[in-house]
Amino acid sequence: MKKPSASASMAAKLQRYARSKVAVAVKRAPKSKVKRRSHVTLGPCKSTQPLVKRSRFSWLPPWIHLYAERGSVHRCWEGHRLKKDRQDGRVHRECIFCEKKQDSGSSILACRICKWTLCTRCADERPRLPPLRDDPLFHGPTQPRLLPVSRLNAAGGNGTVIICPGGNYEFLVPQEGMPAAELLASHGIRAYVLRYRLLPKYDLQDMLDDLEAATALVRSTHGGPVAAMGFSAGGHLVASLSIQRQSKTKSRTAKQALDAQVLVYPCIDASDWAHEEWCGFSNWKECYPVAKETMLVGREALCGGDGFAAPPTLMVASTADEASPPKEHTDRYAKALRRHAIPYTYLRRDFGAHGFGLSGGWTKRCISWLQNRGFGSTAASLVVDGAEGGA
Ligand SMILES: [Zn+2]
Ligand SMILES: [Zn+2]
Repeated sequence: MKKPSASASMAAKLQRYARSKVAVAVKRAPKSKVKRRSHVTLGPCKSTQPLVKRSRFSWLPPWIHLYAERGSVHRCWEGHRLKKDRQDGRVHRECIFCEKKQDSGSSILACRICKWTLCTRCADERPRLPPLRDDPLFHGPTQPRLLPVSRLNAAGGNGTVIICPGGNYEFLVPQEGMPAAELLASHGIRAYVLRYRLLPKYDLQDMLDDLEAATALVRSTHGGPVAAMGFSAGGHLVASLSIQRQSKTKSRTAKQALDAQVLVYPCIDASDWAHEEWCGFSNWKECYPVAKETMLVGREALCGGDGFAAPPTLMVASTADEASPPKEHTDRYAKALRRHAIPYTYLRRDFGAHGFGLSGGWTKRCISWLQNRGFGSTAASLVVDGAEGGA
């Protein structure tokens, strides 16, 4: 996987950023001082410690800054504040989000430097992500946590889905977290977002510990079945759980194993993470040495070799995805699922560039697939729970 979740332009910017090899100076704690054991807790984020020191925020990659998507002030991709303007039909482009060009003379918000244009409808109605300072996925670097859905709470349904956002194992992409959990909750399926630990302080085994502990925690809290939904690097994490933990004793496996998984533009072949040019980390100097050593564990099995294991799977992949192209990733996984007679559904078409998130029309199939496997209940009532705040 060469680029983490982002639109095509975001991905191109990220790649340039990664190649510049400008490192965010995160001091790596000595191994002995790093808390290795997973202590996943459940509840809203309590941590005020960001992943990166505030003084280093300006070095963050644009797909984490997400100026255009976060907070109440509308900004362009570069972070310039948008100003009220009139569509002149010439300089102003179509709206960046709905891709519609407003009639000449109609009100818009625009950045005069970048020519970024936003229609008033998208400005008013499009859901916003939390500002960086309030984003639970950008805090608590040492505290893995299952974050409850902030606005809706699915009551009465069976089973739980654990959402694992992508972010190249260095960050957690917010649009692959809470919006996915809220979507499932709005259909009566209980869901949590897993904030797992990240590179460079922690490695793949620590992240797997977090997912395993989270699976056991929701099973003991709510009963089964338990599924995980992973996007991009999160998809690699989810798929790796069944591969790397199958040798454990039966009692452990039963509690901590997944009953189903949803992999959305997952990275299956992890070889890019061990490639100096393509690992794609913004904090390259710190992350690359750890990734190189740990990300390839289980690679052969994950790509369909000896030791392949998986629960029933729904996979979503886009033919326009240049970061995790289906031919190199999900096609190989689908072939292995078929060979092992594991039930699976593979949604493969042009959903857009890597990082298309919940768009493209795949979510409806996903919800009915989960419901058919015993998740949620059509009779489940939705309870508005204002007490479960986001940050
Ligand atoms: Zn619009
Ligand atoms: Zn701008």
